[in-house]
Formats: sequence, C-alpha cells, structure tokens
Amino acid sequence: MQHPQPGRPAILHVALGPGPGAGLVRRLPAPDALLARACGGRGLAGALLEASLPPSPLSPLSWDDPRAAVCFAPGRLAGCSLPGAGHLAIAFLSPRTGGAAVASLGGGLGDALARAGLAAIVVTGRADHPVGLVVRDDTAALADARELAGRPTPALFDALAAWDAAAGIGPAAWAGSPLATLVADRWHDAGGAGLGLALAAKNFAFLAATGTASPAVADPQALGLAKAAMERLIAASPALAGACGFSRCGTAALVDLLAGRRMLPTDNFRRTFFPQSPAVNAPRLEAAHPARAQACPGCPVGCRRVTADGRLLPDVDGLAHFTALLGLADPELAVAARNRCLDLGLDAPGAAATLACRAEITGHPLSPDRVLELLAAMGAMAGEGRELGRGAAGYAASRGRAGAAMQVKGVELPAFDPRGASGLALSLAVAPSGPDPWQGGCVAHELLRKPVATDRFTFEGKARAVVLGENAVAAAASLGGCALLSLAVGLEEWALALAAVTGQLVTAGDLAVLGARTVRAERGRNARRGLGAADDDLPARFFTEPGTGGDGFDVPPLSRTDFLAARAKYYRLRGCDADGRPVGPEAA
Ligand code: SF4
Repeated sequence: MQHPQPGRPAILHVALGPGPGAGLVRRLPAPDALLARACGGRGLAGALLEASLPPSPLSPLSWDDPRAAVCFAPGRLAGCSLPGAGHLAIAFLSPRTGGAAVASLGGGLGDALARAGLAAIVVTGRADHPVGLVVRDDTAALADARELAGRPTPALFDALAAWDAAAGIGPAAWAGSPLATLVADRWHDAGGAGLGLALAAKNFAFLAATGTASPAVADPQALGLAKAAMERLIAASPALAGACGFSRCGTAALVDLLAGRRMLPTDNFRRTFFPQSPAVNAPRLEAAHPARAQACPGCPVGCRRVTADGRLLPDVDGLAHFTALLGLADPELAVAARNRCLDLGLDAPGAAATLACRAEITGHPLSPDRVLELLAAMGAMAGEGRELGRGAAGYAASRGRAGAAMQVKGVELPAFDPRGASGLALSLAVAPSGPDPWQGGCVAHELLRKPVATDRFTFEGKARAVVLGENAVAAAASLGGCALLSLAVGLEEWALALAAVTGQLVTAGDLAVLGARTVRAERGRNARRGLGAADDDLPARFFTEPGTGGDGFDVPPLSRTDFLAARAKYYRLRGCDADGRPVGPEAA
C-alpha cells in the first residue's frame, strides 16, 4: 500500500545523549513492511514503541529507562486536508498505567509532520540538558531548550511561533508530577497517562514543525468526494454541528446531557446529580465568555472555544470536574482552573479529580481560591502539592484511603459516571491506555442515542459493542482521525479516503481488522508489562453505592456479576485469555 506522504516516507530517529549537541538525529526511510502492517498514527506509534522494548517479559523496562522510546506518528491521512485527520499519536511507557500508552494529540503537528514527509519520530536516550526538536521539511535538528524549560506553556508557544505547529511540556513535568501532560498549539493536550513526565525524563522539552509538501494523492477527485461525504455527515450531526453541539459550545455541551441522565459525577463520584448544574453549563459559560471556535486543520467542528483574551473555555471534563466533582457551582473557577492547568502542563481532569479525592479524604470542601492555590502547588510539586501532584491514586494510597481514588489503571476517571451507562463502564475499565469515554463508542448509542439507542442500564450486548467501537476508533486514529468525529464519520468514509489516496481498494472491513489488530497489540504490550484483568476494573464504589436517582428513575450500583460476565465476553471477542492477555499470533 503506497504511503500518501511526498516521496518516500521517513522515520526520524532521535538518539538523545550527553554532550553539547545532546544527541543524534537520523532520517531513514520507513520500512514498507512496517507501514503495511501498522499503517500510521496509533498503530505505527505503538509498533515503533514495541520495537524499542526488550522482547523478554521477564525484564520489562521502567517507564523512565532511556532505552524506552517515545514515538510520535501522524496518521496515514494527515496532511490531506480531511476533516479531523491531523491528530498525532504518541506511544510511550506510562508512569501512571504501568503499561504502554498511546495518546492522541490535536492541533497542527500531525499535519505539519506529514507535510515534512515524516511517518514517525522515535526518541530514545536522555539528553543531559533540556532540548527540543525542530523540523522544517526534510531538515531536523535538536535545539537547546534550557531557556524554555520550566516556563509556563504560553511562553513556550510564544517562543515557537515561527513554526506551523508545536507541542511542549510545562512546569509540572519539570517538577516531576505524573499528572503532567503534553500541550499542543496552546489549546490541546495529550490526556492523563503521564506523557509530560515521560518526556521530561528524556529532557525533551518540545517538538516544533513546519512542512510544506503536498501529499501524493492517487485520485484527487475521489478524495474530494470522500471529503465532501465526511463534511456532510459532520454537518448533519446534532452533537457535532447542532444548535448546542460541539461546534457552538465545545464538548462542554455534554454537561447538560450528563446532568439529565443523572450521570454527572458529583462530590468525588459520591453522587451523580449536581442540582446547581444549570448555573455552570456550557450555554451559561458561553454567555459570560463570548468565544470563537479553534479548530485543528481541516476540521469544521472547532471544538476548542477560546475567548477574545486568549483563555480556553473548559471542555466537558474540565467544566464538570472543576464544578460538580468539587461541589462548587462557580463557572469562573472552572475557566481559571482549566487555564491554570494548561499553563502548568497539568492534565485538568486528573488534577480536579485528585482535589476531589482530597476533599473526600479530609472531609474539608475546597474553596475556589484554595483550588487555584493547590493547582499551583501541584504544578510545582511544592508543599501539599508534592502529595497531590502524584495524582488521586498516589495521594489516596499515601493517606491509607486507596478506595477514595476514582481511577482506572492509575488514571483519574473522566466526567461520565459509569453507573449511568453500562457499556461506557466496560469501555472505561478495559481501555489499554487508561479510561477514555471516546474509545469504546458508547457515548453515541448510550448517551446521544445515535445511531440507534441502546439500554444504558444493561451490560447485555455491550461487550460486542465496545469491541466494535474500539476497533473503529483505533483504525481512525491510525489514519489520524479524531475520536470525537466518530460520532458522525464511519469506517466507510475513512476507507473511501484511504483508497483515494493510495489508489488501492480499501474497505471498511479492512479498517476494522486494522483497528482490532491495533487494540490487540496494545493489550499485548500491557500484558508483557504485567497488566491483567485486575487492571481492567472500576473502583469498588460503583458496584456498592447507587447514584443519585430522580426524575422517575433510579441509578443503581453496577451489577458486579454482570460486569464480570461482560468483561469475560469482551476478552473472548478480543482473543484474550481469562486474564485479558491476547493469545495466539499478535496479528490474528
Ligand atoms: S473535533 Fe475538536 S479535537 Fe477533533 S479534530 Fe475537530 S477541532 Fe480537533
């Protein structure tokens, strides 16, 4: 299968080390067999990480071992001006999950790297001082980043304004917080699996890129038709483009829906309904803070909402967790806290959930001012922030209250209470890189009731639904696809686009196989690092305590028996043993 990037796609191998140059950068052709098997994006980044690890599961590398790679890979359709196809996949050993994680990063880096002819960047070793990597078309070099290390992320982006796109770590990563993330193009970040800390362990401060080449496209007319089909589906999606869709209110639009479904996590998941939620919903936020849409290249949705003075309005996780989860009906706090996290390079939902965990353990609710103070302390790992900056699991364990940490695989749960949607509960538990509501496709059929509503209070049929949803999201991510767009764009449209670019026949079924292979490979990497069924589980609270019923329905605890049966079926469908470890050939 021909790769769409101009000329022969290359992989940049960056070996960090001691000395004034802090390492070597080599640009080598990407092996055809690797591209054929792993495609690009999520699949390719994971495969390259795998190649950097010793084959024996008896001596797994620590996440901060210099030999462990951090691998960046744009999707195979990045740079082709398709909607939402510019996400960058980043595979790394997670300081939080104990396994290998793959993050998905919005912004312009995926497109810029693809237009520079790169299929991937593999970073190994450790520099003896902070460095960045700058890529301009077919040239790449390490840059001294000592002046930038530890500065708030806005200062980093000001300094990197000459490049088309950039991503970097903030003060939290340099201070050693596992909650540290990677921030891209000011408004995007890479989730809560600890990528910021993994990069700081390599003294890798930033990546900046400009690419000007046009991708090779076998059939431009067919690509135009595929793009038009995608855009039509997005325009017809109420969730993405409706009057209160993501294009108007960002994903914060979901807060009202979660409240109505009585699955808005409140007071550290001790309740699922926040009576003051109408005062802190997205329309209120938009009315108080007029904002414009900020889009990834080619995306008509533009789910990031940015005010005239350059502040990011919180997304669903930021808005819900900095209000309901903390029991604070203060939208101004949510805006301030979300932006403080961005400045510090802290994962916002993880930081908020850690503070909610603290409030439960200490029995002392937090004031808005105290929330902001503690976020600053977490970003500096100073004072009480030294404990809190470890995240909810680390904090709760140090207090002898592990059960108060609402996390899976060490990563704090997002703003979707599992008791309100059984398929979502299963998908949060089994996701290889930590809990993510978008990975299993259940937000669509359980919450939005699209394309066909399913009974959200049963596990019946959900194992298969999660497998299919994960396959679709993983395949799209290997092409560069944003998971949010899976609400409208299916594998049929992605297959049309890939066929147009490569000139080869590609079906939705081919992509589903790619997605299944990608998820199995991720589970295999985790299994070799010791993760098993015990890690694919939810906190006990969700099986023993009900949510907050009302409006004519109850929110009972999840049935432990039904959850375990659904998880066992998920394992069978994935070709895994009873402990969730893949059996048989990896590519089967
Ligand atoms: S929906 Fe949002 S995150 Fe996804 S591609 Fe569009 S702007 Fe980027």
